[in-house]
Amino acid sequence: MRKILLTLACVWLAACGSSGTVENAGVDSSKPLEIYWIDVEGGAATLIVTPTGETVLMDAGWPGNDDRDAKRIAHVLEHEVGRKELDYFITSHFHIDHAGGAPGLAAMVPIDEFVDHGDSIEKNLNERAALLWQNYREAAGTRLTVNPGDTLPVSGVDFQFVSARGESIKSATAPANPYCEGAEQKEVTGNPENGQSVGFMVRMGDFEFLDLGDLTWPEELAAVCPQNVFGQVDLFQVTHHGMFQSNAPALLNAVAPQVAVMNNGANKGGDPLAYAALMETPRLVDLWQGHNTLNEGASNTDEAKIANLGETEGCEGHWIKATVQADGSFTILNSRNGFSKSYQSL
Ligand SMILES: [Zn+2]
Repeated sequence: MRKILLTLACVWLAACGSSGTVENAGVDSSKPLEIYWIDVEGGAATLIVTPTGETVLMDAGWPGNDDRDAKRIAHVLEHEVGRKELDYFITSHFHIDHAGGAPGLAAMVPIDEFVDHGDSIEKNLNERAALLWQNYREAAGTRLTVNPGDTLPVSGVDFQFVSARGESIKSATAPANPYCEGAEQKEVTGNPENGQSVGFMVRMGDFEFLDLGDLTWPEELAAVCPQNVFGQVDLFQVTHHGMFQSNAPALLNAVAPQVAVMNNGANKGGDPLAYAALMETPRLVDLWQGHNTLNEGASNTDEAKIANLGETEGCEGHWIKATVQADGSFTILNSRNGFSKSYQSL
C-alpha cells in the first residue's frame, strides 16, 4: 500500500503543474525491461522486471513436488534478477496451476503486495478449489482487487490491467475489428475461473506485451468485438497455455503479435487448433514454447525456440526471457541452448 500512496502523490503533483516528467524520475533509460517465462510444467509464472528493477510476477505455478515451481521462481529471482523479493504478485485466476504455488513462494520470497480479480468464484465448487482458495487467502493477507483500466504504479513502463472478472477495457476510439465478422463463437463449460482472468498490457515506448492469463473464448470475443481495444502488439503470451477453449482467431488476428510465447507443458496446451490459428495471424514472425508438445497430432515450433524438450518427469525447467530496450527492440533468449533472436518493435 505504501508504494501506491506514493504514486498517487506523484500523480497529484504532476496534475498540479509540474512538467509531467515525474513518472520518469529516476529511470535509467539504459536499463532494459525484462520478462521471464519460468517453466512450471504447463502452469504459469511470468516475471516482469522493470527498467528500475521492480519485480512483478503473474502466477506461481503448481503446489507440491517439494515446492518445485516456487523454487524455480525464487532461483530466477535470486540468480538472474539479483533480487530476493517481489514487489507485486498477481494471481490471474484461482486455478491450481496459477495460484497453487503462491503459498510456497510466499514462504520463501517476501511479497509486498498481492493483486487479484477479487474472490474466487470457484471457492465453493469442490474441496480442492476450497482448499486452494483458503491457502491463498492465508498466504496473501490483504489483497488489492483490480479492474480493467487500472494501472500498476511501477516506473519505466506503462502497466495497465486490461481484463478482470470477465470484463475488459473499453475504448470509444478503438478501431473496428474486421475479424469479428462471422467469428465463430465457442461455448466453454466448467472451470469458470478461467474467464475471470486478470490480463495486462505492458508498454515501453513503441513496445507492447499482452498477457491475458487463461481468458476463454467468449470473453476474448467480448473484449475485441466489435472494436479492437488492445491494438496490435509486439509480444503476446499465448492465452491459456495454447488450449482450444481460448485463442479465438478474432482476438489473435486483431492483436497480431510479431512474437508469441506459449507456456505449455509436455502434455498440456499446445492444441493443434490454437497453434494453427496463431500461425495464420498476419504479422507473426516466431513462436517460442516453454515445452515441446508431445501430444499426438500436435505441431511445434523450431526446436531451437523450445525451452524444454522432454517429459515433465526429470525436466530441468529451462526458462525463456525477453529483453526489451528503450527503443522498443527486443531479444528473446532460450536458457536451454543460449539461442537468441532479436526483433524490432512495429
Ligand atoms: Zn492454466
